[in-house]
Parts: sequence; structure tokens; C-alpha cells
Amino acid sequence: MFVYLNNKIVPASEAKVSVFDHGFLYGDGIYETMRVYDGVIFMLDEHIKRLYRSASLIGLNIPKKIPDIKISIYETLKANSLTNAYVRLTISRGYGTIGLDPDLCKEPTFVVMTNEFKSYPRSYYKEGIKSIISSVRRNLKEAINPQIKSLNFLNNILAKIEAKQADVYEAIMLNAEGYLTEGTISNIFFVKDNILCTPSVECGILDGITRAIVIDLALKNGLEVKEGKFTPEELYMASEVFITNTTMEVMPVSSIVDRTMHNTACIAHKPVGEISKLLLKKYQQEVNGYVKE
Ligand code: PLP
Repeated sequence: MFVYLNNKIVPASEAKVSVFDHGFLYGDGIYETMRVYDGVIFMLDEHIKRLYRSASLIGLNIPKKIPDIKISIYETLKANSLTNAYVRLTISRGYGTIGLDPDLCKEPTFVVMTNEFKSYPRSYYKEGIKSIISSVRRNLKEAINPQIKSLNFLNNILAKIEAKQADVYEAIMLNAEGYLTEGTISNIFFVKDNILCTPSVECGILDGITRAIVIDLALKNGLEVKEGKFTPEELYMASEVFITNTTMEVMPVSSIVDRTMHNTACIAHKPVGEISKLLLKKYQQEVNGYVKE
């Protein structure tokens, strides 16, 4: 296996980053996850655009020009002979002495890792995944803005630990005001009175690339879409719930347990709904069209 590190492809066993890297010391950096279908990186330009926005929000200078970033990803895929893959691009502040000052780091560290894409179990799509409403709140917009796809993921990791303890797959986080935000690695949607609802970016979420496509597909297929502030109770009352991200695409959610209140488990069970199935199908058609272009 090969990894792209800074300016070249190296064997994975030799792809080493310093213990003084501020990505390691402080989670000071950004990343993107992409999906490759038949050798084509889906929504590459959108991912690069978001990477630049994340970089600008943390005052990081990306050490490469856009065409060179694209080349680095394609070269890594080629070195690993991958056509259906998962790409993880990471840029950290780089090597520097201990201290928070970003100026201690002269050059960001740039890494591209690729892996064969392994499908999620079919049962996840047929039956839906289980989830919780986590007691861990999403970062405040005024703290680490969730729009920054940052390496600083401890909040989401704490929520994921809670999900594992509850033996469920995903944890949905609320914001400080108690409104729904998103999952640890996904955006959330639900259907209420035939309207597709999803927390707005203002609630404090990462504006997922899959989320934007799903909203667009829903509108094109005649559905009403509402982005706004929603409560967990509205989720329990929904007729369908699903989560989205680059690798999951559109994944139905079959149950939600509330872990925000001590000893109170409010359980909502959902069948996999028709709108979720339709949007997954349309999403996959969109991918096929993109790949053939
Ligand atoms: N929200 C969070 C916190 C994420 O980490 C991710 C993706 O990893 C998403 C949402 C979904 O984003 P995308 O659809 O761009 O993969």
C-alpha cells in the first residue's frame, strides 16, 4: 500500500509524520473524505472547495495548487491500483515546537491515503441502522465551527463512544439550544407530513456534500424540503429518518433512543420508508451519471 506524503508517493510503512506535528499535538488541521466510483472521484471540485474553506477558517495555507492536489489523489489511487475506493486527504499545520502558535510550524503536512471501498452491510439499507440522541452536544458555532472539517474530532468521538455503549451505529448531537444538528459523521434528514426536513447550517452542522445533493434530488422529484431548527421530539414523530454522507450515501435509520435525560429512554422505531428508498435510488443514479460524463 502507498501513501502520498507531502510531495511524493511512499510505501505506507514509510509514511511517517513527526511527533511534533501540530495535527498530532493539537488536532490542528483539516481533512476531506471522498469516494471513488469506477476511477472517478465523485464531487472532487466540491470537496476541494470545502477543503479551502476549512483551511481559510483556521488560517492555514494549503501548500499545493488545486491541479496538484487532484494529481496527488489520482497518483495515490494509481499507485494502489484502486478504482472503487475511499480517499482521505489530511492537511495538518505541520511540524513545529510545542506551543499553540501556528507560526511555530513552517510547512503544513499533506497526506493522501486511499483504501478499497468496502460496502456497508446490506442489512443497514434494508432494515435501517439504530441511533441515539447523544448527551454530547455538537460544538458551538462560536467554538470550533462545525463548518470546519477539522482534525479536532473529540466531541464526535465522545458521542460515538456513547453510541457504542448503547450498541447502536450513529449518535445524533443537539446544539447548545437543544435543537438537532447532525450525526458524528453524517447529516440527518426526516420526513414529516411528506415534507423532507433537515437541520439548517445555522444550527451548527457540516454542510455535507451528500446533504446538498439529496436536497437537490428531493426538490427535483417534487418533494417539499424544509431546512430549519428541529427538536428531537419532531424526529420521534417522523415517518422516516435517514442519515447521509459520502460513503453511506442515503442510509435509513430505524430507531432512535434518547440518551440526553437520565434514565429516560424514549424509543422511536421506524420502518425503512419510501422516500428514503427513492432518494437512495436517485442518489445512485446521480453517481452513475457523474461517473459516465
Ligand atoms: N457531518 C459530519 C460531522 C461529518 O463528519 C460528515 C462526513 O464525514 C458529514 C456530516 C457528511 O458530509 P459529506 O456528505 O460531505 O460526506
